Amino acid sequence: MQEVVEGQQQSVTVAIRIRPANAVAAKSGSHTPHHKLCLGVIPKANAIVVSKDDIQTLNIASSPAHGAVGGKKTFTFDQVHVSESSQKELYNSSCLNLVNQFVDGFNVTIFAYGQTSSGKTYTMGSSNNANTPEDEMGIIPRVVHQIMNLIDMKQKLDPNISYSIRCTFLEIYQEQVRDLLMPNNDAKDIQIREDRNGSITVSGVHEESVSCANDLFKCLEMGGIERTTGDTKMHMSSSRSHAVFTLILEQRLDTSRIVGMKTDEEDFGFTSPASSTASRLLRCSKLHLVDLAGSERVKRTGAEGVRLKESVKINSGLLALGNVISVLGEMHDPHSNHAITAIHVPYRDSKLTRLLQNSLGGNAKTLMLACVSPCEEDYEETLNTLKYADRAR
Ligand code: ADP
Ligand code: MG
Repeated sequence: MQEVVEGQQQSVTVAIRIRPANAVAAKSGSHTPHHKLCLGVIPKANAIVVSKDDIQTLNIASSPAHGAVGGKKTFTFDQVHVSESSQKELYNSSCLNLVNQFVDGFNVTIFAYGQTSSGKTYTMGSSNNANTPEDEMGIIPRVVHQIMNLIDMKQKLDPNISYSIRCTFLEIYQEQVRDLLMPNNDAKDIQIREDRNGSITVSGVHEESVSCANDLFKCLEMGGIERTTGDTKMHMSSSRSHAVFTLILEQRLDTSRIVGMKTDEEDFGFTSPASSTASRLLRCSKLHLVDLAGSERVKRTGAEGVRLKESVKINSGLLALGNVISVLGEMHDPHSNHAITAIHVPYRDSKLTRLLQNSLGGNAKTLMLACVSPCEEDYEETLNTLKYADRAR
């Protein structure tokens, strides 16, 4: 675990997920060749060793020194999920606690970063639906079930609090926001604004009220279908855009049902320093689940015109996110020389970071899931992803 400034909780957690070497070939029906590997794991140290030369086994028992030794580079992270780890194991160790915190009123962002076909969509479950088998279910459907169960439980404990959930599903492509739940809305009408209290609001976007897990799955499915059909129309691949599935939870304390109640923070366990009556009675939190655009560099040859422009814009979103996360990591680094208040967090550099602003930094909790392929032919991209993830620590 990363050290944290006294009294402050770590706000960004970085986890690596390694997909099975043969996942891509196996799915396309071809026979599974032996894959040469470019990385190995030292499980006890949460460390990954990368090398251009074939690493014979994924599991490395001894730990070489951190840094670059004999053509091998070693990185350590908060968590490393090996290719055998199941969807459920990953969820329980990385997400369960964050979702509890979301229901307690914290803003949370969980995002998957990595090159195309590194396992982002599989991990997030962005294309799952109500019929996806339990063991295949990614993060989004598990989040939905956990939230519904938690709210059910809480409502039984305290019937004076009512809960409402809304969801939005947006796609960001070339710095334009598209509403996947209301695809006919004009992208130009979608505005991301910051109000006087620093709250980010998105106007011109449909927020669907949901009352059960199935409602949420319908939104997920609808947005997923819209994403692929829209992509075909625009001759783009969904791997070039960011998909942001957001849950907004409102918890309202109904004082009219409580005779002689003292309405202060303690009664509602409200954690914000804001103390207006309204904020004491209403608690609102956001959970963003983000399937990012593929992080691969576009080859210099072959990428021209629209495609080149496209790759530049996409990289600006990923670049801005990397910069924001890196600055946030520095704030929590006890060895950093920066005075916390003097650090500028560059949220404004992209639509993506602007949209996620309230859920990155401050009291918010962020999980970066960096997805990598262990195959030798993916060495360059795997190394780039590990470097990007390393900056966040
Ligand atoms: P991305 O969204 O990063 O482009 P995908 O999630 O589509 O990548 O993954 C590429 C392929 O590999 C898919 O067929 C997916 O089902 C498979 N895959 C990825 N990760 C795993 C995993 N951990 N276990 C099994 N299959 C996986
Ligand atoms: Mg994908």
